[in-house]
Amino acid sequence: MFEKSVKAYNDACEVIPGGVDSPVRAFKSVGGTPPFIEKGEGAYLIDVDGNRYLDFVQSWGPLIFGHCDSDIEQAVIQTVKKGLSFGAPVVLETELAAEIVEMYDNIDKVRFVNSGTEATMSAIRLARGVTGKNNIVKFEGCYHGHSDSLLVQAGSGMATFGTPSSPGVPADLTKHTLVCEYNNIEDLKKCFEQSDDIACIIIEPIAGNMGFVPASKEFLKECRELCDKHGALLILDEVMTGFRVSSTGAHGVIDVKGDIVTFGKVIGGGMPVGAFAANKDIMAHLSPDGAVYQAGTLSGNPVAMAAGLTSLRKIKSNTSLYEELNKKAQRLVDGLKEAANANSIGLQVRTIGSMFGFFFADKEPKNFKEVSEFCNFDRFGKFHHEMIKRGFYFACSQYEAGFISTAITDEMIDDCINAANEIMKEL
Ligand SMILES: *Cc1c(COP(=O)(O)O)cnc(C)c1O
Repeated sequence: MFEKSVKAYNDACEVIPGGVDSPVRAFKSVGGTPPFIEKGEGAYLIDVDGNRYLDFVQSWGPLIFGHCDSDIEQAVIQTVKKGLSFGAPVVLETELAAEIVEMYDNIDKVRFVNSGTEATMSAIRLARGVTGKNNIVKFEGCYHGHSDSLLVQAGSGMATFGTPSSPGVPADLTKHTLVCEYNNIEDLKKCFEQSDDIACIIIEPIAGNMGFVPASKEFLKECRELCDKHGALLILDEVMTGFRVSSTGAHGVIDVKGDIVTFGKVIGGGMPVGAFAANKDIMAHLSPDGAVYQAGTLSGNPVAMAAGLTSLRKIKSNTSLYEELNKKAQRLVDGLKEAANANSIGLQVRTIGSMFGFFFADKEPKNFKEVSEFCNFDRFGKFHHEMIKRGFYFACSQYEAGFISTAITDEMIDDCINAANEIMKEL
């Protein structure tokens, strides 16, 4: 029964392009109508037709404590009662910044913005301002939001200056973005041979936007060394991984430290928040202390800060949180893998902290091109569709990662595996 969602979708399409405010929500890559959500309840989403889904998307990452967590809810309600926004400093900003600074040993200061897109855009401006250089290095398949200079595709052959991947982006802007293959050290070296004007590398150290594809240790080390050698800054984009893969993000899992770190998703606890952070020397370049301009009318919004602060404090108060979440993530992917094996279906699975990924592929992909080449997208589409019908809400594309929240129990995961067992027979 999806009647009300179908109607809601058709109505939305009349007044909103494609019926959605962010393209991935439209289910284009798997087909069908996206359920319109009425409300969340712990581990579950409930749509306008009353269908319940076990939620492995969690608003694309932020909701590590599931829907309607009572602590976050209370903090938000208390803050709302004092007013929604002042455009003037509030103590909550300092408190949330301090929580982040405490968790990352190479970060002294944090600037809050309203989205991950703003965070990476501002981080790149800061890197350019600090280094006085113009070019940036980005990896194919990593997503850093939709700002102009990041909407690039590789030219023919890798390690080339990018061309716009969307109409509306002038080639004059993307010509400063070098596009390289993820996990390809030779390619990366070529970038630095090709240009002595590189301000920064921006990378998802554990990629969650081409499916779930971690960077290798050696590759991250090479990123660090090349930046140091050539006077460039390393931007770790932790908008997705920050407080998701560990209490110290990817930073706590990999051996490499970034010069600038970007955040979003979990640090807002479900409210629109992004941030970028660095040591005090780098941050001294930022307005009003320094000359690099950056601003936001609603940045550091008290309600959003309250939600984020409560989330991070809850995270900090439970030191075994990520182990528990990872056990569940592992239980899920092990179960899916077994179900696939029993039906001779190739499935590549991976987890780190509360993140997981699975590819319908016979080999594990290490970069965007391999994800595109190795994966059976048709099979994924069928799997996704059948799981939705049975009440399991996975990200609607093979290019997305999955998430576990504290509200998800072993029993719920076992139900999901049982459903997958039925479905795999038909794939
Ligand atoms: C989600 C995401 C962004 C963009 O954040 P928005 O809040 O959607 O603008 C940037 N980088 C990474 C790694 C992300 O996962």
